[in-house]
Amino acid sequence: MAKKHTQKKGGSNLSLIKWFTLLLACGFLFWFALGFYQNYTLNHAPPMDEIVDNEASIGEIIAPMVEPAHETFTLIFEDKLPEPIRKQTSRSTTTTDKHQIALIIDDVGYDMKAFRRLLALPFPITVSILPDAPYAKQAAQAAFQHGIPVMLHMPMQTSNPKYTSKMEKFYLHSAMSKTIFTQVFEDALVKVPHAVGINNHMGSALTENDKAMQWLMALCKKHGLFFIDSRTSATSVAAKVAKEQGLSWNTRDIFLDHSIEAKALAHAWQSALSCASRNDTCVMLAHPHKETVSFLEKNIKSDFYSQFISIESALK
Ligand SMILES: [Zn+2]
Repeated sequence: MAKKHTQKKGGSNLSLIKWFTLLLACGFLFWFALGFYQNYTLNHAPPMDEIVDNEASIGEIIAPMVEPAHETFTLIFEDKLPEPIRKQTSRSTTTTDKHQIALIIDDVGYDMKAFRRLLALPFPITVSILPDAPYAKQAAQAAFQHGIPVMLHMPMQTSNPKYTSKMEKFYLHSAMSKTIFTQVFEDALVKVPHAVGINNHMGSALTENDKAMQWLMALCKKHGLFFIDSRTSATSVAAKVAKEQGLSWNTRDIFLDHSIEAKALAHAWQSALSCASRNDTCVMLAHPHKETVSFLEKNIKSDFYSQFISIESALK
């Protein structure tokens, strides 16, 4: 009996060692996989270097940033929002100054933590809100209360087939009749209260379409909106049509966050400074990535705050 008992105990110890080794191996594998994934995501940032479909790539990035829990938003907005500290410079007083930057933050309405930090930036910005974003209305109202101009970031047809086949609720495309086109645009506008202008989200195909741009600019005119061409296509006719129809307009000069790596952000910022000194005013688009927000918080020196203007001050 004693021998039998000893054998059982020995077997039990062996089993424990096996389990411990297995757990250790699993832990190591998990750690290794996590490290590999982080390294992969760092080194395989979405290809945003090309102008065409830049916004489509960004769409892929923001998807994981969606915070579907409504509680998150409630928490953020019950907790005190930053005081409205900025006073947007008026169009009449700023157009003679040099080296100005009009910064528009696109794709707003998903990441409210980032949005809250954007509200607290000590210099003027403009926000452009996606109509189908879960917090579109709340973001628009909060921005308005903080004196920040609100724009509708209107999703439009891209030349990338992956996105062309993905027709969202608020998404303008060339196969639409004028009636549907108008309906979709006006429904989107309702989702973003206080909008004073629009720019295109994606749209590398639709902004090349003269007929669609004629319809779009007529709608902007009807609703008293200005138009900013995000220039996701090098052959966009959007700004030309806006000008022809007598709208206030401008075009994007620089994307701050083609890449969200620190070096790339710094390089894009230098390009914006050069652009501003060349053209007096530079229209810069950025996105609410946490890396972009951190860059803006840390790298804009206080003596440069006054060089930022709202997009309304940069219209042609
Ligand atoms: Zn966008």
